[in-house]
Amino acid sequence: MELAEGIRKIGFGRWYQRQLIESHFYLVTSFLCLVTVLACFEGFSLRMPAWETVMRLAAMLAGAAICVWTLRRYLAMLDFAVRAAERSRCEKCAAYSALELSAAPARRLAMPGGEEVGDLPPVGVRCRKCGHEWTIG
Ligand SMILES: [Zn+2]
Repeated sequence: MELAEGIRKIGFGRWYQRQLIESHFYLVTSFLCLVTVLACFEGFSLRMPAWETVMRLAAMLAGAAICVWTLRRYLAMLDFAVRAAERSRCEKCAAYSALELSAAPARRLAMPGGEEVGDLPPVGVRCRKCGHEWTIG
């Protein structure tokens, strides 16, 4: 679920919680695939029947590919959620996670040299307590 959609439907706090849970499912999947690869490698021998050798090789390759993909997905989701959380505190009243989507168009933050900050999609938000508006992303 995208950040803007998450804030609108379930609020930032629950969106953040779901991102952490989902990302850790990817981490668990990655670990299970690593165990599968190691288990297949442990019993691997060229003296086995050809079909078993091929099956073990296929399981190791598939397990390694899924392991790498899920680990990268875990790291990307976690990084995204943490960076969004760092920007979810109101600069005026310091309220954390008490935000809603604002009607103002979102602007991507830029460094003084013109470089954009991060790869978060810009989402305009407003503090529910004081009404201060800013952009996450
Ligand atoms: Zn505020």
